[in-house]
Amino acid sequence: MLKQSVETTPDIPLSTFKESAELHIVDTVEHQETPLIDTTQDAIEDDKDSIIKIINLSKQFDGIEVLRDINLNIQKGEVVSILGSSGSGKSTLLRCINWLEQPERGFIYVGDERIGVNAETNKPAKYKELAKMRQRVGMVFQSFNLWPHLTVKQNVMEALIHVKKWSKSEAESMAETQLEKVGMSHKLDSYPSMLSGGQKQRVAIARALAMEPEVLLFDEPTSALDPELVEEVLTVMQKLSKEGYTMVIVTHEMDFARQVSDQVVFLEKGILIEKNPPEKFFTDPDSTRVRQFLKLDAS
Ligand code: ADP
Ligand code: MG
Repeated sequence: MLKQSVETTPDIPLSTFKESAELHIVDTVEHQETPLIDTTQDAIEDDKDSIIKIINLSKQFDGIEVLRDINLNIQKGEVVSILGSSGSGKSTLLRCINWLEQPERGFIYVGDERIGVNAETNKPAKYKELAKMRQRVGMVFQSFNLWPHLTVKQNVMEALIHVKKWSKSEAESMAETQLEKVGMSHKLDSYPSMLSGGQKQRVAIARALAMEPEVLLFDEPTSALDPELVEEVLTVMQKLSKEGYTMVIVTHEMDFARQVSDQVVFLEKGILIEKNPPEKFFTDPDSTRVRQFLKLDAS
């Protein structure tokens, strides 16, 4: 099915399909069999309210460390924004959280479950286990990644039917509910090519919500949009934050990050150099680098 889609739509970048496939069609995931995880650090702090715990996480590409010893706790219902310049490791950090990238070192827990690792055998999770783990974490990409040959409603139903094995009518009902939440009820039978970028991203958000994840990850959800379409997506995200969703958002929208976040995190060359509530982060950050990034010392 995946191959066919790629062949019939050569104008869509392969990466689009790769990410969707990695999330939903788990049998196509290349899987690393060696557990490159430091099992000596199994003790985690007893923090019942954390929904995500990232402990000593390090990730390399081609021998270069792009995430270095990241520690981050995210509480249930919290909105955490991740800022940093291009190449600082923001996307890689999000991708590690749902195991689209496998870290060399460290642990990531979603609730009590260690992502990517079978709790009983301490070995890498198999495809099906991984697919189940990933359902706890929804992801929204900059490039929407909607299936071009499916309608808006079918895009939202697809994983419910094929991954969650829901009936068509159950999936349809959930799709309609979530599309209403993002203000897209009037476009149920439209194809993605008929939508604006802002509408496409709202459908992508509805698709993530439909899987009922415990955490939503957003990787620069408005960066591909024309400026006049940014607001409608941010409004939906703001609404979700008020409804109590746990959200981790990589963004360059400073005003938005300031308004919605409970915590703001700054990455620099793969190192988490600051984490503070927005009032502190944006007015009186601890690090010189963040002051410089925010141009706080400029006259
Ligand atoms: P950001 O999202 O903050 O812009 P990324 O997480 O995308 O940063 O990238 C961090 C670093 O890792 C960059 O130097 C980038 O070039 C590198 N990188 C990201 N993905 C890959 C990959 N699949 N292969 C090799 N290098 C990568
Ligand atoms: Mg990125």
